[in-house]
Amino acid sequence: MALKLGLVGIGKIARDQHIPAIAADPRFELVATASRNAGVDGVASFKTVEAMLADVPELDAISICTPPQAHFDAALAALRAGKHVMLEKPPAATTREISLLQAEAARQGRTLFQTWHSRFAAGVDAARDWVKGRTLTGGSITWKEDVHHWHPGQQWIFDAGGLGVFDPGINALSVLTEVLAEEVVVSKAVLEFPENQQAPIAAQLDLRTQSGVAVDTVFDFRQKGEQTWDIELVAATGRLRLSHGGGALEIDGKPVAADEALAGEYPRLYARFAEMVEAGRSEVDWRPFQLVADAFLIGERRTVAAHHV
Ligand code: NAP
Repeated sequence: MALKLGLVGIGKIARDQHIPAIAADPRFELVATASRNAGVDGVASFKTVEAMLADVPELDAISICTPPQAHFDAALAALRAGKHVMLEKPPAATTREISLLQAEAARQGRTLFQTWHSRFAAGVDAARDWVKGRTLTGGSITWKEDVHHWHPGQQWIFDAGGLGVFDPGINALSVLTEVLAEEVVVSKAVLEFPENQQAPIAAQLDLRTQSGVAVDTVFDFRQKGEQTWDIELVAATGRLRLSHGGGALEIDGKPVAADEALAGEYPRLYARFAEMVEAGRSEVDWRPFQLVADAFLIGERRTVAAHHV
């Protein structure tokens, strides 16, 4: 029997990725949506999660693809109604919200899948295998994209709680924390805030592993021309480069062909969600979000030119 799914927040990522991935997976049936200004043809649509939960009691699960500021209330309402929940990244607006959602899922005996889609990019598993058993000596992250191209008109990114350049940058941190064999901390951060916005447009982080290896990190939303989503790791016995947000891998300068079975981040996310519901498990790993929160805690603030979405 397919899981009856409600989709919350019908915007860019819902249309580009979630709806096609759900349609292609026989383990799910999209039966309702909750979005203030949008819906999906042929699917019951509601303005709020509460109305959707009340009118469609047969829902088994909901998948939330709103911005992070709207995750907590929706996820809490769904868990309390006994539904399984899948959450887009970034997981929430505050760290406390994630802990409370995790506790609620456990209390209700329901699955909470707090996703990091970039961890499902084709090169990530092989990168983790390469790191295992090697001694790292350094690394860098360069995540530079044009916010006007990738997030047209999305003011929420620059509102308080929208995380600014960390909205994409947290993807890099999700991959780094997945592939490294040891934990990292933020030892220094510089955050650049446009004079008219509440969230940073660029950030530089000094990350350090517990054994003191530096991973220099640059996030920038003002990139024109070539777009870069690269992670480089250097070991005594070679070097690795994950590019295209984890989708392409080079080891010692040579491309490594990706396994065809690893194609498609969102189909793999939904496959994992179905497996977790079946197994009665949850998955919550908010280390990438902690690193972002820590950058806000210790970061030096610089004011830069105004930015208009
Ligand atoms: P989006 O195009 O702005 O869509 C999000 C939708 O959520 C909106 O259209 C809006 O629909 C609804 N919403 C509910 N509460 C909202 C609020 N307080 N502020 C703004 N919208 C609200 O954004 P998106 O690009 O799909 O991104 C949504 C989430 O997916 C983000 O957390 C982002 O990090 C993640 N994501 C995005 C991408 C991407 O390429 N864009 C990739 C991976 C992950 P209604 O007005 O109909 O309620």
